[in-house]
Amino acid sequence: MHRRFIHNSYQCPLWLEYLFVWLGTLVGMAGPLGMMRTHDTRDWAQRQPLCHDYFAHRQSFWRDGWWQIHCELALDQPPEFQPERRVAQSRFYQFIEATWMAQQLIAAALLYAIGGWNFVIWGVCARVAVCVTGHWLIGHFAHRAHGNPISQHWQVTDAGVQGYNVHFNGMLKPITAWITFGECWHNNHHAYPGSARLGLKKHELDLGWWVLQTLHRFGWVWNIKTPTNLPIRASLVQL
Ligand SMILES: [Zn+2]
Ligand SMILES: [Zn+2]
Repeated sequence: MHRRFIHNSYQCPLWLEYLFVWLGTLVGMAGPLGMMRTHDTRDWAQRQPLCHDYFAHRQSFWRDGWWQIHCELALDQPPEFQPERRVAQSRFYQFIEATWMAQQLIAAALLYAIGGWNFVIWGVCARVAVCVTGHWLIGHFAHRAHGNPISQHWQVTDAGVQGYNVHFNGMLKPITAWITFGECWHNNHHAYPGSARLGLKKHELDLGWWVLQTLHRFGWVWNIKTPTNLPIRASLVQL
């Protein structure tokens, strides 16, 4: 959902895009348009020379968690949100947007049929709580590793906020890459937002990229953008 719907970093059949976006909605954070608006607003804010602490994850751990998970930034003059026509006019996206919370009922019904209430509690309630908290946690660390050379290969010189690759150097290394499907390589993502590949170095495990490569072999994914075929960015400096 992130790499296709939000960043257009590859092409795929519409049914596959709808499936990915529906699965992304099941994470439980917002509907498709809400996700796109939140993502684009934050992306835009982080690229300005000055950025509010809320968008920059600059506050302390607990305050940032409270703000990101439980609060909303209300702007007097919010930026205008204009999704591309094919998204704004899609009946499917309008329907999922209007019913995004109720979409959990489909997962709940399936899980109930398989394993009863235990499966529903773990497969819906616990999963949504873990995913929403985990999404914030990775986002928090992915913007705060200032000065750690392992976490930053690139600097976007005109942006007020830099992204950082999130490592977890425990026994199960690279655990953050496994649980985020490669989305933890956030320094790479800030450097190349339009890239379908997030793990750029050999050791940077990127399961999302593996999935795309497999689908490419089946002919379901094409026109894949990576740093090698994206336009050169003048404000990008390799460290
Ligand atoms: Zn970021
Ligand atoms: Zn992004």
